[in-house]
Amino acid sequence: PLRVQLEAGDLLFREGDEPGAAFLIESGTIEVKTHQRGDEVVLSLLGPGDLVGEMAVIDDAPRTATATAVSAAVLFPLDRQQIADRLAATDPIVRSLLEGQLKRYRGALAALQGKQPMPDTPTPSERLGTGRIRLEAQLREALANRHLELSYQPLLSVAEDRVAGFEALVRWNHPERGWISPGEFVALAEETSLIVPVGEYVIDTACDAVGRLIAAGTCRAPFVAVNVSARQLAHPGLIERIVARVDAARLPRGSLKIEITESQVLDYTLVAGIIDVCHGHGIKVALDDFGTGYSHLCHLHRLPFDTIKVDQSFSRSMLDDVRSMAIVETIVRLGHALSADIVVEGIETPEQLEALRRLGCQYAQGYLIGRPQRLDVLLASG
Ligand code: C2E
Ligand code: CA
Ligand code: CA
Ligand code: CA
Repeated sequence: PLRVQLEAGDLLFREGDEPGAAFLIESGTIEVKTHQRGDEVVLSLLGPGDLVGEMAVIDDAPRTATATAVSAAVLFPLDRQQIADRLAATDPIVRSLLEGQLKRYRGALAALQGKQPMPDTPTPSERLGTGRIRLEAQLREALANRHLELSYQPLLSVAEDRVAGFEALVRWNHPERGWISPGEFVALAEETSLIVPVGEYVIDTACDAVGRLIAAGTCRAPFVAVNVSARQLAHPGLIERIVARVDAARLPRGSLKIEITESQVLDYTLVAGIIDVCHGHGIKVALDDFGTGYSHLCHLHRLPFDTIKVDQSFSRSMLDDVRSMAIVETIVRLGHALSADIVVEGIETPEQLEALRRLGCQYAQGYLIGRPQRLDVLLASG
């Protein structure tokens, strides 16, 4: 289940039970008890933001205490895999700190059960990270409840002066916080295997959008480009699942593209393999954010990308700074030489677009061409 709802007095788990999930308390109060010579001893009262039952899951040992709801409560379960993912990604020092705490807790508990003082109350450091875990649990729910949406931003074919396709950008409609940008939650999802279902949702929705764009006839042979991070692609079997979904959607070749976004060093062998698989299934691959951070010349030298997307930092300064203009011009020429299309992002003024036209750049993207929009709005506006 995505959430567990308890009434006052309901049992969550019992001492001696096999460990199942841990729980993050969203609302209500949970009492954790053990027995001391037949008498019940309350170990702790836990409330919103606290984790309960994580010890047995981390240790893979039977429950050492019993947890019941004192008042009506809502909890988000965290399965062993989620916790294992987080532990595996954790700094080893933090991990050993955790293990130390765990040992002390178990020792104190055993001592208690043989008539010893109460264990230390949880330290503030144990609460560390629960804010993110909470967001992650909510994201899991958002996915199930379809609170993730895609916005579509047009790409202009500069020479033809027409919209040729769209980039799909994911957004989260959060019940309390409103729209949350991908910058905030994609990185979070990437830390665990949650990025896998998020990515699958994006692909499925984008495939569906291609079908609807074709049916509406808004533009000739439209494409939709989806963002896939290198960390996403590192999940084994992910690219196979992507192409299977694209194949199942029976889209015209070239109508679905992927943009590889980079936040770490690219694994060339892996990405070369991925580009190869994509090409075999009529999927074109773009290198995103070229010219920033980790997205650099070596990638082009080693990997046969179909498209290079030039980051908006270049278009921003292109008209005021001859050096930026020279860089954009050189990238456009480089693209020609490598038979790759160039997209310049962040085009906000007619002067910037005019400059791209002069340079012979294939595609322009940015607020001048259009802001990201929901598909229904886009289809309604023709
Ligand atoms: P990106 O792929 O570089 O996407 C372009 C970002 O620039 C978008 O922000 C877009 O709204 C914004 N933008 C477009 N034109 C203009 C302009 O003219 N001026 C300005 N100032 N901004 C413009 P957004 O939607 O917040 O996306 C942020 C990043 O999140 C994206 O950067 C992409 O790397 C990532 N992202 C978006 N959707 C997904 C997804 O489905 N999966 C993954 N893994 N990452 C995604
Ligand atoms: Ca992109
Ligand atoms: Ca980009
Ligand atoms: Ca970006």
